Amino acid sequence: MNKNIIIIFILVLIIFLMSCTKQGCEFNNPSCNKTFECVNNQCQLKMGCTYNNPSCEENQDCIGNFCRLKEGCQFNNPSCENTSECVNNQCQLKMGCTYNNHSCEGNCVENKCIPLPNINDLLHTCPSLSEIEKYETDFIITSDIQFKEYACEKGKNPYYQEDRLDPKLTIYQALRIMDSLPFSKNLPWTDESLYDWLKNNIKGIHINKETDNSYCCNPDRVINLKAEVIGASRQLKWVDPQSGTGMEALPALLLHEARHVTHGHTCGTNDATLDEGGAWALQYYLYYWYGHYLPEKYLSDYEKEMAVSFAKELRNTRFCEKN
Ligand SMILES: [Zn+2]
Repeated sequence: MNKNIIIIFILVLIIFLMSCTKQGCEFNNPSCNKTFECVNNQCQLKMGCTYNNPSCEENQDCIGNFCRLKEGCQFNNPSCENTSECVNNQCQLKMGCTYNNHSCEGNCVENKCIPLPNINDLLHTCPSLSEIEKYETDFIITSDIQFKEYACEKGKNPYYQEDRLDPKLTIYQALRIMDSLPFSKNLPWTDESLYDWLKNNIKGIHINKETDNSYCCNPDRVINLKAEVIGASRQLKWVDPQSGTGMEALPALLLHEARHVTHGHTCGTNDATLDEGGAWALQYYLYYWYGHYLPEKYLSDYEKEMAVSFAKELRNTRFCEKN
């Protein structure tokens, strides 16, 4: 009897104790660990990126439990300007001459620097077929000497002897140079290029073996060039050091004669003044422009010096009135 009462008492005691010790985090029974919080007596993972709940996207940093866009161009925060590119999350000026990120002495074409040929390199290349077609369309080129078959290798017609050049090819080369001289400043008497000015002033070029001097304009607006001076071997160079002249003289001669379409000489075979803008003035200006307004390295120092000194000589000797 006593034994049963004791067992019942113990059971009642156990039930009583169990009902007294409440369960759950509110009663720290058990308590939540640090990354959890107690909500409705349940441990719940805390909210926010610190607890990866939810965690941030790859382009975000968790700062103060908030996801923020990472800094730098990789994350477009901020993104780079058009002229820069994003390298290792830093904006760097793009490479290439378009972005002036190394200087280009030639032409910048599609971000590549194409060096300007120097003038002697140009003289050792041939005019293209389309260039020849253009020259033949813009000018009537005739001669009273028989040309050999036209050919061109490295700026020379191989059918001609060593000491002579093909006169026709020589004219093409002169026109080609007049069409391509990259002057950095307009010529004083025209806004047109040298080539366009010539084209708009004369109709044709006749290589004349009968004349002692080149002249213009018979027939009307046709320049007669003394055959001997067209195709001399020195014209394969801009300035031939042996003679001190070369191809440089040919555009000057063409200009001089073309100016006679509108301007005669006003002081014997010279001109009265530079300002009247006659044939000698144009020739003087051309040499001055050769010497001062071509890109660096387009002419050699020697060629530049020759141009400058010849301009000076023309200035001093070809104008009667000093002004
Ligand atoms: Zn003249």
